[in-house]
Order: sequence, then structure tokens, then C-alpha cells
Amino acid sequence: MLTCRSLRRALSLTALTATALLTATACGGGDGPGSDGTRVAAAFYPMAWLSERVGGSEVSVDTLTKPGAEPHDLELTPRQIADLGESDLVVYVKGLQPAVDKAVREHAGDHALDAAATVRTLPPPAEGEHAHEEGDGHGHEETSYDPHVWLDPSRMATIATALGERLAKTDPAHAGTYRANAKTLAGQLTALDEEFRTGLDGCKRRAMVTAHAAFGYLADRYGLEQVSVAGIDPAAEPSPGRLAELTHEIRENGATTVFTETLVSPKVAQALAREAGVRTATLDPVEGLADGSRGDYLSIMRQNLRTLRTALECS
Ligand SMILES: [Zn+2]
Repeated sequence: MLTCRSLRRALSLTALTATALLTATACGGGDGPGSDGTRVAAAFYPMAWLSERVGGSEVSVDTLTKPGAEPHDLELTPRQIADLGESDLVVYVKGLQPAVDKAVREHAGDHALDAAATVRTLPPPAEGEHAHEEGDGHGHEETSYDPHVWLDPSRMATIATALGERLAKTDPAHAGTYRANAKTLAGQLTALDEEFRTGLDGCKRRAMVTAHAAFGYLADRYGLEQVSVAGIDPAAEPSPGRLAELTHEIRENGATTVFTETLVSPKVAQALAREAGVRTATLDPVEGLADGSRGDYLSIMRQNLRTLRTALECS
């Protein structure tokens, strides 16, 4: 189907006058939701999941980070940047993906919702948890907070509510639907939060050894301690000195497991686990769905809870 969006996109590449003519007639000016519904550009999976659940059938969601891709170092194509600029709302986490931050700053104006701005943020992990930032050439921007806010279900509930309000403003005709969907979703996320709270109460150990420092909010919320192999950015490789330090910490804490991730090579974590004589298990930071995954945020987080309960020996 040829939508107003695709027409605008096609025409913006060719004749500007034709675009003006078309949007002035068939597509009604181009401000606000067109006949093809409200278009949301979601930066990466958890934001896409929230947008789909809160927007329901009234929105079409385009995810900038494709399935199977690791979101931190996302690069955007000119086409994606153009789409982002034309969307009715961009949903992202400032400080996670420098390319998205830049595109929002330059092309999205005020039609963007920064999920991190809707919740209380925590500082980035302490110096010792940082791997050596072996420059990968992406020039990561300095952030004053840890961007992994979606790994705390209670914060996700807050973001869902904020997104419902924002969609209600973007597309007032369906405000009731967005608010009702957001309320249902926030209820499910609050229930998940309760499962984590009770599930991680009474564990033998509190230290979890993670592949990269994604679980700061989860640790903070449920009274766990995160020891991470890499820092905020999973691409950074730990130095031999840091690995020796980690081996020592694992033995000290009596940790039984080094957690690996779905979208990042488990090699470093596996080598560390071998060195320390412990096992590995997958703890998914839900930064994206693995290719072909049939899970969603709720089912992946429940699997994470089961994995944590086993590794930490929770009663
Ligand atoms: Zn991360």
C-alpha cells in the first residue's frame, strides 16, 4: 500500500514542489498523525515493545536497531535518519546510542520522548567496573547516568505511563486508548516487579557477575551487587589485569556463575568462568531480541529471574 509516509519519503528525494502539492492535498499538511496512523520510531527493542503495547493498533512502530543487532554502537542510515525526522514520535534512551542522540538532536525537534528523563536515574558504575575503553572510534558521549533504565520493571511501568501521556498529546483522538493501554501495561510491569522482589528475597548470595554493566538498575532495585566484566559498553574488552581482579572477586564472593549475553560474544565471560572454575549462564539485558526469538520483554525478564534464582541459590 502506498501510504502518505512512503509518498512523502519517495517524493522528498525527487521533486520538492510535488511533495508540497501532495501533502497540501491528500496528506493534510504532514503535521501530526496522517491517515496511516501515528508513526513511532523506537530506538531499540524495549522501547519498541513499549510503543507497540501502549500504541496498540493506532500506531505503527519502526525499530531503528534491527533484531540480532547490539544497540550500543548502532549506526543509522540516511534513510533511517530521514524516517526518524518524519515520525510523529521518537522513543529512545538518551545516553545509550550516540547515533540516535545525534539524530534526535538534529532532526526530531521536540517530537521525541527520552525514557531516561521520565525516571530517577542512577550514576554510571564505579571506576573499578569500567573496562578499558579501548576506543572503538565511535566517540561515546559522556553520560552522567547509567542508561540501562529498562532493566528495572518498576521504572518500565513509569516509562509506560509517561509514554501513554505523550501519545495522548501526539494523537489526542486516541488519547483514551493510549492511557488505557498504558495502565494495563504498567499493571503487568508492576506485577513483574513484585515477582522479582519476592523471587530474589532470601538468596544465598547477592553478587552477580555480568558480561557488561547493564544490570545496575536491577541490582539496585532488588538489593543485588553487580560485578561486571565490561563497562557500560559491551564492546570494551577488559584488560588482563582486570580479568585477574575479576577472578579474585568471583572466588571472594563465592559466585557460581558468570553471566553471558545473547547479542555479544560470550568468549571473554567463558574464559573468565574457566579461570575461576565456575559455570556460565545467559542473563539477557534485553537490549534487543535475538534473531528468531519468540520471547518478549516480560517472558525474557521472567527467564532472567529463574536464571538469577538458580545462580544465587534463592529459596
Ligand atoms: Zn548495555
